[in-house]
Amino acid sequence: MKITGMRLGRLSIPLKKTFKTALRSTASVSTNILEIQTDCGAGYGEAPPLAAITGDTDGSVRDAIASRIFPAVAGMDVSDLNDAISAAEASCVGNHPAKAAVDIALHDLWGKLNGRPLYRLLGGAAREIATDYTISLNQPDEMASDALEALGDGYQALKIKVGGDFRLDVERLKAVRGAVGTAALLRVDANQGWRPKEAIRSIKAMEDLGLDVELVEQPVPHYDIEGLKRVTDSVDTDILADESVYSARDALRLISLRAADMINIKLMKSGGISGALRICAMAESAGMECMIGAMMESKVSVTAAAHVASARRVITRYDLDPPILCAKDPVRGGASYAGASISLPDAPGLGIDGIEDVEWL
Ligand code: MG
Repeated sequence: MKITGMRLGRLSIPLKKTFKTALRSTASVSTNILEIQTDCGAGYGEAPPLAAITGDTDGSVRDAIASRIFPAVAGMDVSDLNDAISAAEASCVGNHPAKAAVDIALHDLWGKLNGRPLYRLLGGAAREIATDYTISLNQPDEMASDALEALGDGYQALKIKVGGDFRLDVERLKAVRGAVGTAALLRVDANQGWRPKEAIRSIKAMEDLGLDVELVEQPVPHYDIEGLKRVTDSVDTDILADESVYSARDALRLISLRAADMINIKLMKSGGISGALRICAMAESAGMECMIGAMMESKVSVTAAAHVASARRVITRYDLDPPILCAKDPVRGGASYAGASISLPDAPGLGIDGIEDVEWL
């Protein structure tokens, strides 16, 4: 299965409701779809522009793929998967989402070449995966009613976005817990919105109020590993690193410092499936559990994340709700959702049959 060509396209999917975090607000999933062609079939990948998070724009993503990453793998055989991935990774520094698009498409093709679903090829089993559901950052009463609605829709685990005024953030959690009672599992994501001392104060306040928060994600700015460790060491609640860990190298440093209790793996940070599997291996060796999450992505790369989740037991928490937040699903095949529950098809590779509404460039 020889790599012969590629094309890039734009895909925009409206959200049911504006999505708000401490970093940004968005009304749609806007992404770049990659199709890598071979002498016997095509594979799919995806790379959204995530300027507020990763620094990547539409232009930088597409140029990195077209001028650096794809040329490094063109002409190679998909059966030499690791050689192709190494060539893609060595083609330029950074550009994690662009590398993820190529890595995901190569894994899709590798699955098709072998005639098996990707998670099976990675040694995985059909696993029960239930995603949490994200509650956007708003005023406490609005967040409480959103949480109640999500609970009514059957979502048991809610991810509460905070990271604004830290005193108001405690009020947000109080309002949400008051609305949902003890029924829901609440996890909190501050998206780097607190200083270390603010984080310690607000997390301790949540503990003192008995708000029963399962974990707090990325309380402080991504670069402040010392601050992250200070928070982790100062509170009883588990701390989950997100924006502080992109690559396996970041994971190595975080684990060696014990700067957080858990790692949130996202394919757009790790540069795809290969990088995610390296982080899994490290976390497993350190006895640390992982979450798998996604940016505002379409179901193409979220399906790839679900395959990784099914393949690695060290991933114990799932934050793969973007397809649920979308007003429509243009991806045929791939992961299917029944409420919070995600299942993968038996089809080869990612199991994606096609993608509607793509504006091919
Ligand atoms: Mg996060």
